[in-house]
Parts: sequence; structure tokens; C-alpha cells
Amino acid sequence: DKVIRAMPKVELHAHLNGSISDKLLEHIKTISDCSDGYEPDVFPSIDSNGVLLDPINHSLDAVNDDKQSDTRRSLKECWNAFAKIHEVIQTPQDLYVATINVIAEFSKDNVIYLELRTGPKKVHNIPSKLSYIESVVKGITDAQNRFPIVVKLLISVDRKNGEQEALETVELSAIVAAKYPDIVVGIDVSGDPNYGNSTWIVNVMGEARRKGFKISCHLPEIVNPDEAIAFLEFGPERLGHGQFLHPLYGGTTELWELTKRKRIPVESCISSNIVSGVAVSVEDHIVKIFQKESLPYFICTDDMGVFRTTLSNEFRKLLTVVELSFQQIRNLCLDAVEHSFASTVEKERLTTIIQKWWLDVD
Ligand code: 5GP
Repeated sequence: DKVIRAMPKVELHAHLNGSISDKLLEHIKTISDCSDGYEPDVFPSIDSNGVLLDPINHSLDAVNDDKQSDTRRSLKECWNAFAKIHEVIQTPQDLYVATINVIAEFSKDNVIYLELRTGPKKVHNIPSKLSYIESVVKGITDAQNRFPIVVKLLISVDRKNGEQEALETVELSAIVAAKYPDIVVGIDVSGDPNYGNSTWIVNVMGEARRKGFKISCHLPEIVNPDEAIAFLEFGPERLGHGQFLHPLYGGTTELWELTKRKRIPVESCISSNIVSGVAVSVEDHIVKIFQKESLPYFICTDDMGVFRTTLSNEFRKLLTVVELSFQQIRNLCLDAVEHSFASTVEKERLTTIIQKWWLDVD
């Protein structure tokens, strides 16, 4: 248990707003209520020595509470939870505070490499999607200077908003990536799987690839083998979830054969899938099959605020159903580095950190 917490970890699938804990959301509300403007040089809730103050300590306690983490919410309730968070995050400062605190929480859990993803929104007090992304980039830049963590940003395309908006988002992402090439590295396709269709989503992914982006695409979190086949055939660098790939859970034999042939690494989010009813239990989670069939996967949080978890908790859950040696756990982390969207130099540095740490354990 201590090893899991202390080991240097890699998080490849974390939605920014979904990673905001209840406590952090309360905190942001409080600052918003008493603030009269954007204060870019302030590190809210972090003292001048970089020591984390409330609410981070509290929220980590809250997210570690197992009773809470098993509370189920339907997929629809999850979308409502995101909407509630979006109602609070209304200014560039809110976004900045959210970004910096979410990164601080990952760092506290010994995550040394983090890929955050978020969909730019134009809301009341955030004047443009560009200003949305720049507030997040500023949070990432300042957090990286403060904590021992490398952070990248994937811009999310929300399938609910249709093809036109998705193409605009990709267009804007290319402009932002040219300005911040070390931070903005990829495109994520996410959002409610009941909206959108594979034809335009594949088209948008093609456009993103032409613009030089790496792509991570959510597989449908509903039974939809045709769409899953279309996504696998396109071949994003990584896929999210994947519960419904296997015939045991509604996938077709053709889909499963394609999954095995393509071997596209899957970002597995155990708590998220259980709380939202995508998987019945840890025992029934697809990750067990991935492990058994030696298919590539990573352990991820998805939305550590909404699903009340941490990356350490996710590894603990995995270990309740899959027996792994220290070496296999280390290799999961090293594989995640290998398939991350970091630069070659960064990958080498992260690999060295992880290998050195495990030498001491062995
Ligand atoms: P944001 O993009 O606002 O930072 O993060 C929250 C958004 O990410 C949600 O509104 C939703 O569009 C997307 N998202 C978060 N978790 C999931 C998930 O488990 N599945 C899918 N398909 N989308 C998600």
C-alpha cells in the first residue's frame, strides 16, 4: 500500500473540471465571491514556501474515503455533476486556481507526469475559448515551476457540440499549440456518447492528425460496436475506457479480434466506470481481460473529483483483481511514459526517475 502511494506515477487520462474535488470547488466559489479581478501572481491555497494549505489536504482526505468512492451515480447524474462544476468555473481566475490545485493534488499523490485534458468553453466571464485555454496554460506553467511534475494539455472536443464546433476547436488548438508547443500536445475526443456519430468524429480526428496532434479518443461508454470499430480502424494513439470491446460485455467477435490486432493502448478508469455503471464491479472490469490477454493498458483516474478517487486508489483497485509483481507495476508506469505525449527527452528523464526509484525498492 505504501509502495503504491510513494511510487512515481504517470497519469494519462484526467479531465480538468472533473478532477476538481468538492472541497476545491467550494474554495473556488469562496475566492470568486470575494475577488474583484484576475490576480495572476497569486498562488491561492499554497503558502509562500509552496506548502499546500487547505482545501487540498481536506479534499485528499475526502477523495480517499472509500465509503464515498463507491457511491454510484448514473451516467446521466455524472453529466449533471460536470454541469454543476461548469456553473462554478466562470472566470479566468477560477480556471487558473482549479488548474494549479488539481496539479498540486496529483503531485501530492506522487504523480510525476500528468496529461490534463479540457474542452475550451466560452462562458459568461471567460471572453473567448482562447482565453480559456491560456488560463489553463498559465496554471500549468506556474504549477510546473512549483511542483516536481511535468504537465501536458490535451484539448477536448465535446461530441455533444457537433462537427462544426469540433473543427473550430481543432483549428484553435493548432494556434495555441504553435504558441505553447511544450504544453499543448494533443486532442481528446470525449463527451456524452449518446451524441455525435463516428463519421464526423473520425473526420475531426483526421483533421487533428493532419495538424500534427497526437490523439486520445474515448471509446463509446455504451454498447456501440460499429462506432468502436470505426475508431479502432482510424487508430488514435490511445483510446479511453473500452469496457464494451469484449463480447462478454456487448462487443462483437469482430470488434474484439480487431482490438487484439490493433493493440492500441487503452486508458482504463476503474472507479469512473463502476460509479457511472459502465462496469458492474472491479471483478467485471475489462482491465482484467486486458491483463490476461497481455493487451496494453494504463491505470487512470478520469475525474478524480467527480468519482472521488486518486491514482493510488486506482492502482489499489486494480490489485484487488489482478495479481502483479513489483516489476509488473513498474512496467505499467514505464509503458505509460512510453505512450505519453511527452517529448523524447522528457520520456528518457521520466524513465530514469522511475527506474531509479524501483531500484531502491528492489
Ligand atoms: P472539462 O472538459 O470541462 O475540463 O471536463 C469535464 C468534461 O469532460 C465533461 O463535461 C465531459 O464532456 C468530459 N468527460 C469527463 N469524464 C468523461 C467520461 O468518463 N466519459 C466521457 N465520454 N466524457 C467525459
